[in-house]
Amino acid sequence: AKKQKDNRAVLYFDDLMIDGERVLLLDAELRKAIEQRAFEVHYQPKIDAQTSKLIGFEALVRWKNDALGIVSPAEFIPYAEDTGLIVPISEVIIQKVFEDAKRFSSLGLQSVPIAINISSLHFQHPNFCESLQQLVDEAQVDASHFELEVTERTVMNNAAETVATFHELRKLGFTLSIDDFGTGYSSLSYLVRFPLNTLKIDRSFIQQICMQEEKQAVVDAIIHMSHRLNMRVVAEGVEQLEQVELLRELGCDEIQGFYYSKPLSFEEAVKFAQAAL
Ligand code: C2E
Ligand code: CA
Ligand code: CA
Ligand code: CA
Repeated sequence: AKKQKDNRAVLYFDDLMIDGERVLLLDAELRKAIEQRAFEVHYQPKIDAQTSKLIGFEALVRWKNDALGIVSPAEFIPYAEDTGLIVPISEVIIQKVFEDAKRFSSLGLQSVPIAINISSLHFQHPNFCESLQQLVDEAQVDASHFELEVTERTVMNNAAETVATFHELRKLGFTLSIDDFGTGYSSLSYLVRFPLNTLKIDRSFIQQICMQEEKQAVVDAIIHMSHRLNMRVVAEGVEQLEQVELLRELGCDEIQGFYYSKPLSFEEAVKFAQAAL
């Protein structure tokens, strides 16, 4: 917390400024929401760049609260990380995703893998792999159906331990993805040691890919490097046809973004999948 000129305490989470009163309310309401399992999960389609077919979904948490309205995950996830509330919140989210995956399957949509975002604090929790295994057992789902997205910052923060955690997660059957690639500082020597399946290029590179030669050169290099390392590449935040066409030319594997679809409610995602398959 920092002091503003007028002496009100304010907290800074990334670019968001939240005043003290709102933080207290957020804290109380988050705790209630955990108890009531009041989070919803939406699903954003991932599209095969070459065939334009649906090849997966990314699960994104949504939280609508009576007192606070719709609270963006960009606001409450960082707060939950700071307070440790992220661990029980993540567990609720993962349980819901597993349940939804079973509902997808029962509708004949079993072939659509789902990516789950794992926050930094949760990933670094000593019992992370164990608790994940327990959730898999409880829900009786197949771990190979799920991809775990961990940000570049998280994995590089503690790269030596990340290697071990990643190997354990692969043993459990999960596939692994680096999120927001290009925003942190990857050490290439670690990147080759991580047993990764996928690399997601951050939206900040995609946004200006058609306007800036340099961005295009970086994306081109990331795609080539990933393929040499046997990883698939996802471009996120793709909003325009020009971007789709350029990414396809560069050999990008998967495309995610508003151009194809915003994140959808479970029911909307079912309709999307039924129309696409
Ligand atoms: P992220 O994992 O990088 O997710 C991508 C974000 O970009 C999502 O925002 C998504 O709605 C948005 N997005 C997708 N396509 C486009 C596009 O074409 N243009 C633009 N401008 N935005 C696009 P969202 O859902 O608000 O999530 C924000 C962040 O909050 C996520 O970034 C992730 O870090 C975190 N988050 C969201 N859901 C979860 C969750 O279930 N668990 C955890 N641990 N973190 C989550
Ligand atoms: Ca993500
Ligand atoms: Ca991302
Ligand atoms: Ca992000």
